[in-house]
Amino acid sequence: MEESKKKDSALRVNKGIDQPPSVDENAAQKFKSRKRKQFSITEYVNGIQSGDRTILSQAITLIESALPEHQKTAQEIIEACLPYAGNSIRVGITGVPGVGKSTFIEALGETITGKGHKLAVLAIDPSSERSKGSILGDKTRMELLSANENAYIRPSPAAGSLGGVARKTRESIILCEAAGFDTIFIETVGVGQSETAVHSMVDFFLLLMLAGAGDELQGIKRGIMEMADAIAINKADGDNFKKARHAKAEYKNALHLFPPSLSGWEPQVLTISALKHEGIETLWNTILDYKKITAINGYFHANRQEQAKYWMYQTINENLQDDFYRNESILAQLKEIEKKVIDRKISSFQAAQYLLEKYLKK
Ligand code: GDP
Repeated sequence: MEESKKKDSALRVNKGIDQPPSVDENAAQKFKSRKRKQFSITEYVNGIQSGDRTILSQAITLIESALPEHQKTAQEIIEACLPYAGNSIRVGITGVPGVGKSTFIEALGETITGKGHKLAVLAIDPSSERSKGSILGDKTRMELLSANENAYIRPSPAAGSLGGVARKTRESIILCEAAGFDTIFIETVGVGQSETAVHSMVDFFLLLMLAGAGDELQGIKRGIMEMADAIAINKADGDNFKKARHAKAEYKNALHLFPPSLSGWEPQVLTISALKHEGIETLWNTILDYKKITAINGYFHANRQEQAKYWMYQTINENLQDDFYRNESILAQLKEIEKKVIDRKISSFQAAQYLLEKYLKK
């Protein structure tokens, strides 16, 4: 800015003469309305089913929108797509920043699209809830896969609570499946509660780890390890190879201490190098084995049914909660009651009871 003020600077801004608007307002209006063309539900559904990515993206944008009319259209699209959804393998992928998630997704993505699969990559980024910034960072990641015509990458919805973001991602899965994507990856950062949300919407949960970084350092809690159907120790290359082999043995032992999973599947530990494309094929075969085994023993289907039920209750809970905290008479009194609780004038239970009764009489 300072530069532009200097008299001799080439960046100096001269005041020019008034110009007529550079765009014809009528044309601009027409362009705007064309850009915002609202498709009918049938157009959306047909577009999605024929694999039209622009329409798929627009429909996902409706899912992500907070506007009630967008939500209504989105729900109708989802409803209409539901019969065509479900025919896929949904894989959750988690691990701390820097573990190699995007490198891995590119490597596995290239491998499976090369085999004729169609891959959609969705993300849940818990960081965007708190700050504007995102840990996953969307722009420069997975450039190869972004240009791959058999892959579709959709960054994490930016706004909303984790619950809200997770619901939107789950709904987006349905649309991606209806658009013919047979493999869905849901990526998240292994630092918060988002793993539980991802676990509740996928068939297979993959934990990426590094050798020698220590569990605490990697922020991996016992509960997350317990959810994993496979642990892949990444960066098993160069000097790191031996350490990775050693870590593999340790994690194998650790997993033995967990009670057997309901799926009847024994979680696997593998070493991979996403960078060198090593172990990627083996990992994919592990996922396919899981699908085969759990399809035969009935768990695959039963788990999806459980998840569908879970999301129904989850949505009820969230909507009730949102409605409660948006209620004006509650908002008017919330702080005051909170203070009474802090000052021990009333008990927490009494306060909650009072507010709930007030809400229910709304
Ligand atoms: P993310 O934050 O989990 O998505 O991690 P990235 O995929 O961005 O990888 C972080 C860094 O680790 C990058 O510099 C990658 O090149 C590097 N990296 C990823 N995978 C491997 C691997 O298998 N071996 C080695 N040596 N480096 C890797």
